[in-house]
Amino acid sequence: MTRPKVPFALLSSVVTVLMAPVVILLLLFVSLGALESGPAWFAAIVLALALGGIVRPHLADLLALRDYGGEVSWRGHQDPPALTFPSAAVGLEAAIARLDRMWNSDHKELTESVKVLKTILDRLPDPLFMLTAERQILRSNRAAHSLFGSLPEGRNLATMLRNPDVLETVDTVLAGPSGREGGKGKAVEFSLPVPIARSFRAWIEPLPEPASDGTVAILTLYDQSAEKRTKQLQTDFIANASHELKTPLAMLSGYIETMRGPARDDEEAQEKFLATMAEQADRMGRLVDDLLTLSRIELQEHMAPTKTVELDHILHGIADMLAPAVEARKQTLEIDLPDKPCVVGESDQLTQVFLNLMDNAVKYGGDGSTIEVVARPEKHNGRDHLAISVIDHGVGIAPEQMPRLTERFYRTDAARSRELGGTGLGLAIVKHIVTRHQGDLAITSTPGKGSKFTVFLPDAPD
Ligand code: ADP
Repeated sequence: MTRPKVPFALLSSVVTVLMAPVVILLLLFVSLGALESGPAWFAAIVLALALGGIVRPHLADLLALRDYGGEVSWRGHQDPPALTFPSAAVGLEAAIARLDRMWNSDHKELTESVKVLKTILDRLPDPLFMLTAERQILRSNRAAHSLFGSLPEGRNLATMLRNPDVLETVDTVLAGPSGREGGKGKAVEFSLPVPIARSFRAWIEPLPEPASDGTVAILTLYDQSAEKRTKQLQTDFIANASHELKTPLAMLSGYIETMRGPARDDEEAQEKFLATMAEQADRMGRLVDDLLTLSRIELQEHMAPTKTVELDHILHGIADMLAPAVEARKQTLEIDLPDKPCVVGESDQLTQVFLNLMDNAVKYGGDGSTIEVVARPEKHNGRDHLAISVIDHGVGIAPEQMPRLTERFYRTDAARSRELGGTGLGLAIVKHIVTRHQGDLAITSTPGKGSKFTVFLPDAPD
């Protein structure tokens, strides 16, 4: 730091102040006749010059300290100036240096706090906006940017979120009393149709006092699409299950009514009706069995099986079970397995998986066709698996229907499925069991040519 020059005006005014008592004394001596005016003037001038010489370096030190304080307050840490009389100003210089250190550490702490707060805001999974009283967005987090794109500071909320319910609620909260006495938060639900329909709950909370940057309220958005979808799935499931049970039940009631009334004495008709009633009762039984199986698997889904299961026995057992249906359709069932095809799993549940898949292959495979069951060791997701494919050469499945196949009660042709005795739950059960086994299900199909359902199951250790 360069040493400042002492301005003449400052030096002269300081010397004048210091000389004032001496000049008064000299004037008193001259007026009393104790001193001649000539020597008195001479003495005053000599004294003023000497004082100027003595005071000047001290003033230069003071000015240097003043500049040092100014520099520290503007630019932060600075080296202290070189002083002519360091002992006189040492306290002041040390105090400024201490202030400088304190300011530095406070500044560092504040910068760190702001950084931490910004990181926390950005890590929040829900979009968040800091709003001014005029509904302008002062700041927003990363989740908000990924939902709405870049949000320049000062942009009005209305230009980004045009939902009138949200804007009205925000305005009500912003117009309400703020501070500790009042100002309650409000929530409102809304949906965004693009890019994919999503449903949100917006919560607008006023701050107890306006922040120094102008923030008066915080707006957060909570994405509740998944919860709504789960609720909708549950509602649909109950409606579907009730509908599936209602139809055979209505048929049973109808037949009972007819047998009690018009067909009371018609033995031949009664025989026919009883056969259909038994069929409907079977259908209800299958449905209830499948529903119970599904809920049981859902309960166990988080507990992966640990036993080793030999699939050879299971697959040939299912083939024997399906032999009458295969024969009735003049189909051929071929099973091609490696030596000792072992996987980690639960025998009963794996029997259910391959029974459902092979039964579907028989049902939808087409008369006179061949059904193949092939198992091969394969790497899947970086792990050793056994891939067991059930292949048919039947009706196949349209590409647009593939993603929904494992949904409960989803059928590509509901009437045909019912006619073949299907419940619409078979593939949903397969999917749940495979998930519990930490495996995977892959479906490929060509309409009119056939389908291939491949189950990947973790290989059993030797
Ligand atoms: P379902 O009891 O109706 O067979 P699933 O859950 O087993 O129910 O199958 C769901 C739907 O998937 C069936 O209704 C059928 O439309 C279709 N599907 C299943 N397997 C096949 C297959 N091998 N070939 C063609 N379509 C199939």
